[in-house]
Amino acid sequence: MDWIGRVGNLRQWAQNGARAPHKPLLMLYALGRFQRQPQRPMRYSEIEHDLSELLQDYGPTHRTSPSYPFHHLVSDGVWEVRTDGGDGSPGSGVRVLRESGAQGQLAAGLRGALSADPALLGQLAHLLLDRHFPPSLHPDIAAAVGLDLEPADGTRVAAGPVPGRRRAAELRRQVLIAYEYRCAFCGFDGSLGRVPVGLEAAHVQWWAFRGPDDLANCLCLCSLHHKLFDRGVLGLDSGRRITVSREFVGQSRAAREQVLGLTGRALIGPQQGSARVSPVHITWHSAQVFRGEPRVPECV
Ligand SMILES: [Zn+2]
Repeated sequence: MDWIGRVGNLRQWAQNGARAPHKPLLMLYALGRFQRQPQRPMRYSEIEHDLSELLQDYGPTHRTSPSYPFHHLVSDGVWEVRTDGGDGSPGSGVRVLRESGAQGQLAAGLRGALSADPALLGQLAHLLLDRHFPPSLHPDIAAAVGLDLEPADGTRVAAGPVPGRRRAAELRRQVLIAYEYRCAFCGFDGSLGRVPVGLEAAHVQWWAFRGPDDLANCLCLCSLHHKLFDRGVLGLDSGRRITVSREFVGQSRAAREQVLGLTGRALIGPQQGSARVSPVHITWHSAQVFRGEPRVPECV
């Protein structure tokens, strides 16, 4: 059985660049549980709260029920559900899943393959993370689902094909030059000797969602602002001014200066002659990543 093919091609509901990471998040959660308790099924009522939080933290901005992936993932052949009454999922309703005692776990064949090949779990987890989330969020999501991506024997799981890494390095070089080695949000420009440090090329429309590798879809951001941009704390409006989510709160001077104070500011860069971020990609980010409503700039 080609488990990498199956897990890599989970059927999604959403089309046209919309994010629907419900099934991938359930799969990652199930892989995390498999690491700790390989053969123990998970009761829907027992994991409903965890799944809700995962969807809320890493899913699209509109609320979705954890019951949907719990039921629908069965049709992808990687997950099985049974109830107190026997095999098969009783449906995608919250109540029926709770009241029937529905329990889910990775499909028996997949559990067998994971037990037989210790490298497979890491490969599947990286595949799901790469296909559905930007790299800056991978460690956070792995921690949230309880996945340990460092194998027990100490060898690192391969981090993707070499051509992909070369592509990322070249893109980073172009983006850092266009923005003159400064964060487009705060102007941070640190270097260690001659090497820029804490500066990253950030995709506006995520690469996993057909966001292109070019300057019209990238910003040079410091590590903090990259993370906050990918988590939807920070965004851009149609005039390329910085937006800050009303859902973000922080009382410290650092939070005020480094996040809240950015509200309504113009981007720094890129230098003349470099492509600016395209409105198409800003629109995608606003709809798919940005959290809730933007704050209103304070009057000075
Ligand atoms: Zn910054």
